[in-house]
Amino acid sequence: MHKARKRFGQNFLHDHGIIRRIIRAISPHESDQLVEIGPGLGALTEELLAEAGALDAIELDRDLPPILRTKFFNYGDKFRIHETDAMKFDYAQLRTSDKRLRIVGNLPYNISTQLIFHLLSHAEHVEDMHFMLQKEVVDRMAAGPGENNYGRLGIMAQYYCKVESLFVVPPGAFNPAPKVDSAIIRLTPYRELPYVAKEVSQFETVVRTAFTMRRKTLRNNMKPLLSTDELEGLGIDPSLRPEKLAISDFVTISNYLTDKKA
Ligand code: SAM
Repeated sequence: MHKARKRFGQNFLHDHGIIRRIIRAISPHESDQLVEIGPGLGALTEELLAEAGALDAIELDRDLPPILRTKFFNYGDKFRIHETDAMKFDYAQLRTSDKRLRIVGNLPYNISTQLIFHLLSHAEHVEDMHFMLQKEVVDRMAAGPGENNYGRLGIMAQYYCKVESLFVVPPGAFNPAPKVDSAIIRLTPYRELPYVAKEVSQFETVVRTAFTMRRKTLRNNMKPLLSTDELEGLGIDPSLRPEKLAISDFVTISNYLTDKKA
């Protein structure tokens, strides 16, 4: 018997109705290049393998791969486990053809936002991603301008991906039960970005700087990067709070700063 470990963020899914609903949302096909982060004891893996026939799994807890290998023995080398940290994994190495990766996972909550930032940097290799996250994190990722939970996480996710919040999963679906609601999110990286930052690192700096103090205006927060006159020149009202700006506005500021450096 494996005992759930807190330090690995282990909350195992046991509600079969919820598991089926997640699988339906993913809709795996035989030709898919599926990657599961944190398979745990294989609750999702079992159904994913049954439908897709092959899968790469990334699992950090070294006690779990022997259990999973035994359980999915009959899949032979179509079930591959990478015993490593999903935060350090180079996802590009799994692309053996021009097929992009379909990444899924009931993610360990303690690292979920950092992991998503890591995955966004590999977005060109990804077809789509379906994750279970704390509902609060899903809401932040899906929030739009004007909403009070719109910020850096949502902007970075929406810069690269179409973001869909799918459904809520209550604590009772897991063992042990977490303290808060969870939710399923679908992230589909754009083949062509709607707004292109000439330099992504500059765009990240602009977004981080704009939200230094959420309650302050752009005039205040953006001072280290550009003046009120420059903001006005770009058609952006300096008296706004950062959460009022669309992604296209952040890209406009970022590209202006990139051009200015040149
Ligand atoms: N997929 C299983 C399920 O739904 O029942 C387990 C989900 S559990 C919330 C998270 C899983 O991620 C655990 O198996 C845990 O050991 C694994 N994990 C934690 N940190 C990890 C990391 N940095 N890289 C890869 N796997 C990790």
